[in-house]
Amino acid sequence: MSRYEPVDSPDETTVFPYHDLTPPEPGDAYEAREIVRRYLPRTPLVRSEALSAETGADVYFKREDTLPTGAFKVRGGVTLGHRLPEEFREAGLIAASTGNHGQSVAYAGREFGVPVTIAVPADPNPEKVAAMERFGAEVVATGADYDEAREWAEGRAAEDGLRYVHSANEPDLVAGVATAGLEVLEALPAVDRVVCPVGGGSGAAGYCLTTGAIGGAEVIGVQSAAADATYRAYHEGHLDPAESATTEAEGISSRVPFALTVGVLRDRLDDLITVPEEAIWDGVRDVLAAERILIEGASASAVAAVRSMDDVAGETVVVPVTGRNLSTEKLRRAVAPP
Ligand SMILES: *Cc1c(COP(=O)(O)O)cnc(C)c1O
Repeated sequence: MSRYEPVDSPDETTVFPYHDLTPPEPGDAYEAREIVRRYLPRTPLVRSEALSAETGADVYFKREDTLPTGAFKVRGGVTLGHRLPEEFREAGLIAASTGNHGQSVAYAGREFGVPVTIAVPADPNPEKVAAMERFGAEVVATGADYDEAREWAEGRAAEDGLRYVHSANEPDLVAGVATAGLEVLEALPAVDRVVCPVGGGSGAAGYCLTTGAIGGAEVIGVQSAAADATYRAYHEGHLDPAESATTEAEGISSRVPFALTVGVLRDRLDDLITVPEEAIWDGVRDVLAAERILIEGASASAVAAVRSMDDVAGETVVVPVTGRNLSTEKLRRAVAPP
């Protein structure tokens, strides 16, 4: 069987023989830590005075926005790039992304000297596209939404023998992003709860394997009510695509749940909840106003969730600031008076 012919996938996406769907274990995060610390700085864990005052909890932001790509995913990108088998280095990597996964893969491509192609949907976040190109990737706008761009990239991978970097069915990405949870454990051993945005679920899976499984924290995932495919997969126990994903927070707007991450979440995540789309944009505006931190809608879903919880007073809560790459246009809309 060729390495470049798709094989049956338990979900609606395409996987290739080199995609190992064995769920990562906590030990894999420690191994990834040895890689990640060579390429990326440890990110700060900083108390949010405004959210703590508002909720009565001790709320800490894990500042993943301070990474060089401005989002947590690059931890996974460098882990995968470091381990990339020789056979793929010349042909290169291909991925579909609304932006931050693409920046992560593009960053890894530059770091390890591997060519990178990223498929983005029509009407992409222009600042994210510019960043991917700055990291040296070829960016191709194709398809009406993320899932159409994904199908195009999967086809190209099969035709041209490229290494398709799935946004979730990649143990190296999950283990890599899980290193954020290990850093949280080192900085703050007694965390009661981690509240993490969920798109494909790699970030939340990483916290489950570390702050959750090792540190004993409760890990709660959050989706927008306007893009709840993973929420349904988690609660209903299937991998059926949702009919639509209409959130404006492109970092969490996947329509299709993914086998590897949903498996980890069903095993280890304590709960997955949704927040209304409007609460996300209130979160962007208020975190900017009160903390002077620019966060993406995807990241603000977790802020909205913490604000909606009536049982967090007295707890120590960690909210990962998963990304800062909000488009200028969405920033304008978020701060404009209604
Ligand atoms: C990708 C992304 C998420 C969601 O992460 P998943 O691992 O897909 O669940 C959240 N926030 C930002 C900023 C992202 O880029």
